Amino acid sequence: MSVGENRMDAFQYTGLPARVLFGFGTIAKVGDELASLGCRRAFVLSDPHHATGAAARLMQVLGALGVALSTDAVMHTPTDVTERVAEKLAACNADCLVALGGGSTIGLAKALALRTDLPQIVLPTTYAGSEATPVLGETRDGQKTTIRSLKVLPEVIVYDVELTYGLPPAISLVSGINAIAHAVESLYAQDANPVTSSLAEQGIAALGRALPAITSDPADRNARADALFGAWVCGACLGTVGMSLHHKLCHVLGGSFGLPHAETHTVILPHAVAYNAPAAPAAIGRVARALGADRAAQALFDLAAMNGAPTSLREIGMSQSDLDEAATAAVGSPYWNPRPVERDAIRALLDDAYNGHRPS
Ligand code: NAD
Repeated sequence: MSVGENRMDAFQYTGLPARVLFGFGTIAKVGDELASLGCRRAFVLSDPHHATGAAARLMQVLGALGVALSTDAVMHTPTDVTERVAEKLAACNADCLVALGGGSTIGLAKALALRTDLPQIVLPTTYAGSEATPVLGETRDGQKTTIRSLKVLPEVIVYDVELTYGLPPAISLVSGINAIAHAVESLYAQDANPVTSSLAEQGIAALGRALPAITSDPADRNARADALFGAWVCGACLGTVGMSLHHKLCHVLGGSFGLPHAETHTVILPHAVAYNAPAAPAAIGRVARALGADRAAQALFDLAAMNGAPTSLREIGMSQSDLDEAATAAVGSPYWNPRPVERDAIRALLDDAYNGHRPS
């Protein structure tokens, strides 16, 4: 079956359970959501950035319903941090997890939910999209592995657009491109389907519009709402279909070489799209259409470059001497991909990404 063609092919689709509240000031409704789940003792998670701001406000909103706050979340969900926080969780007899933060905080909540089966209410503050997926990436001894389990899928997502106003434009941009990457890979996934594909186009279009607007005016309420909506649908795409080469490369570069997550997605995406374009022309054509461009790989590169995001692995901390090892790791146990994943071609892709070449 070819993916992304106009004719209706056979497909399978499994919808994920999700309750979503989207709006401005919705943080005030978290207590009601707790009550709807029948919960009374929330263990609240966040990161150091939000400790004295939004996370403290959430504790205020929760009052007696919030039994403890941990602001220990860090990037790439290292298992030693999870195990340390799990001890704090065990000590306070909580009956649910409430997470406020980006993908790192939500990753920590998911890792705890995997171990305890506690329900989760999450308030995303970036565009990473993790809240809408049953996927958890964890890092142990420098290896990032991914599991898929409904145990980690949050029960409730509370999108409060106001929580994203303070996300600096530079982080907004790379985070939004991270979300776009989920939708792009869903369009050429082995299990692509018409429901996910139309969501993907919608999400790419929303973020493609919103990100330049946020770069010029971070307080643009409509652009912030558009971007957060886009992040949700892109995350939902990743939640329902498989990942391919782009995510594999990012997992290797993030997990084994410590590169920052969203920046790595931003640098790699145009090159992964250029790599896959000959094998999935219809799907990549839909990416271009959503961005209002002729060619997807170049449009994605320009979206990053013209708004000031990093475009090379060199800029984000990769050392050239590690490229060989990264190429070897990327072809080891590869994810399904529309174009065969060959080491020499992947090494060339990494070289282009390292040097920040615009795909030709
Ligand atoms: P993050 O959560 O680490 O946030 C990035 C930085 O932005 C942090 O310093 C944080 O404090 C700050 N920040 C977050 N929200 C802010 C706000 N509103 N205002 C100001 N600063 C803010 O990074 P991320 O890119 O959101 O998430 C990356 C992690 O999420 C990675 O570990 C990645 O593997 C995971 N992830 C998982 C999935 C999945 O489906 N499992 C999907 C996407 C990302």
